[in-house]
Amino acid sequence: MNKQGKLIVLSGPSGVGKTSICQKILNLRSDIRYSVSATSRPMRQGEKNNREYIFLTQPEFKDWIEKDRFVEYAWVHGNLYGTPKQTLENTLNKGYHVLMDIDVYGARVLMQSNPDGLYFFIIPPDFAELEQRLIKRNTDKNEVIKNRLAKAFEELSYKNDYKYIIENRDLARTVQEILSIIEKEINPG
Ligand code: 5GP
Repeated sequence: MNKQGKLIVLSGPSGVGKTSICQKILNLRSDIRYSVSATSRPMRQGEKNNREYIFLTQPEFKDWIEKDRFVEYAWVHGNLYGTPKQTLENTLNKGYHVLMDIDVYGARVLMQSNPDGLYFFIIPPDFAELEQRLIKRNTDKNEVIKNRLAKAFEELSYKNDYKYIIENRDLARTVQEILSIIEKEINPG
């Protein structure tokens, strides 16, 4: 196992398939761990505390900010999301690579502090399809879906900050593409 693991960051509009991509990557590589973020958003059906997220109230989240417990945090769709510092450091120090699904503002902070990380931006094949995926997912109200689409356009304007821009047309192919980049970056030559 490596002495110090790498950050593997995925960003991209909500509904683009980041959760499925992360799950597949984690199933295929035991040397990669997922960074469970903290959030102040309400838990969705089927979610579990400390699995999808560490669910905090807004005052609890703000207390963590004051105690400097995040490497980055951002407001996303009206809620706070952040990457807890302690777990991330422990996991990297153990030699695991750490996979994160974070928004463009959080990723920007990490690009400064961790320029050696692998930064991927996932784009949808087209916006009509993205809208359909968000509706099919059926976890959000109409108004929320509209906000998420507006945020998607905004996020897309940051894609050129990322070294790797990957179109998610086919999940299996996308995962293979990302894994082969990870492999090349982790074991060059
Ligand atoms: P959702 O509420 O759909 O689970 O996530 C909404 C968005 O929040 C996702 O697109 C994801 O990229 C972003 N997000 C999740 N965790 C973090 C985090 O720790 N930091 C930041 N900056 N964004 C996050």
